[in-house]
Amino acid sequence: MEKIFIADAMLGRLAKWMRIIGCDVEYFSEISDNEISERAFHSGRIILTRDTMLIRRKINRKNSFFVKYDHYQDQLKQVVKAFSIDPMENLFTRCLLCNKKLLTIDKISVADSVPEYVYYTKDNFKTCPSCNRLYWKATHKNNVVKQLKKILELK
Ligand SMILES: [Zn+2]
Repeated sequence: MEKIFIADAMLGRLAKWMRIIGCDVEYFSEISDNEISERAFHSGRIILTRDTMLIRRKINRKNSFFVKYDHYQDQLKQVVKAFSIDPMENLFTRCLLCNKKLLTIDKISVADSVPEYVYYTKDNFKTCPSCNRLYWKATHKNNVVKQLKKILELK
């Protein structure tokens, strides 16, 4: 079964990068220890945290993971390795803002919503069912892949 996560408030960049590679990661920039514990417990999410006090709580003992590093690059590497995540398998399949899985959308239906040049040069469009943001394969994605490969030391 696919692992699902909730990241503590300190791990915003890690959460973003995990969403880029398609992981289901809840993240709130302001959330209390009680709230994060309750949410994780009831949803079966694994708490990603730098906070040992949070891990020591009885309610979290079975579903928390200690992130060892300060820098998001090291954090991402640690998590990908620990949970055997294939970083390329689900790349760019999740909304970076809402954490929702993106849906494929017909090209014709985005005609009025994207710049003309994008419409004529791209064929694959996806949309977020929650915020309706449109995603397409843009040049910056190549840079993201490059960064990702560098972080994870992939060839
Ligand atoms: Zn969204």
